[in-house]
Amino acid sequence: MEKIIVSACLLGVPCRYDGKSKPENEVIALKDRYELIPVCAEVLGGLPTPRVGAEIVGDKVVRSDGVDVTYEYHKGANEVLKIAKENGCKIAILKSKSPSCGKGKIYDGTYTRTLIDGNGVLTDLLIKNNIKVYTETEIDKI
Ligand code: SF4
Repeated sequence: MEKIIVSACLLGVPCRYDGKSKPENEVIALKDRYELIPVCAEVLGGLPTPRVGAEIVGDKVVRSDGVDVTYEYHKGANEVLKIAKENGCKIAILKSKSPSCGKGKIYDGTYTRTLIDGNGVLTDLLIKNNIKVYTETEIDKI
């Protein structure tokens, strides 16, 4: 069975910054067609759960209290890429709008829930490494 990378929070793992999960039935149902590999880039980057929320500000990732977590975000993204390569994954299903997993739209760094065009740190890295990224709203495109 083909293996694919999936944001762990979409599979019900409570790894979000607020200590909750975001299970999506359509994503969970993919287990019938693929071997799902749950990953959370922020946890793999060494961040705790729950954690202070962060947004992308220019080329950095900054928590709402001003702490720079760029290193942890990039470390986690690289860990996920390593897992994807080790497992021969060509597809990833990632949670929309997240500063790690978002694709196409992310928050603008003002912590006002304002969306702008852009990708999360993990999404960017996977796309640059020829892994196709879909959000939980694009399951029909897989
Ligand atoms: S980093 Fe990705 S997998 Fe982890 S909680 Fe955020 S959206 Fe979910």
